[in-house]
Amino acid sequence: MAEAHHAIKKTDACDVQGCSSEAERSISGDAAEEAGLKVKEGLKRVHLCKEHYKEYKKLSKKDRELNSLGHQR
Ligand SMILES: [Zn+2]
Repeated sequence: MAEAHHAIKKTDACDVQGCSSEAERSISGDAAEEAGLKVKEGLKRVHLCKEHYKEYKKLSKKDRELNSLGHQR
């Protein structure tokens, strides 16, 4: 079979709206939504740049803290 691959993009762009930085990581679309990141809708896989990955980690951590606080009763 002939190789039909076109040049594979070496770098994906960040999927956060308004951001066009190089993506460094990818997370699931659900995780991004839960964290409250403004990503394009309907993506199974969301690519994040360094900055937004940091933000995602911050957001998801905060979320966990809130949840655990809610359980401490
Ligand atoms: Zn970004």
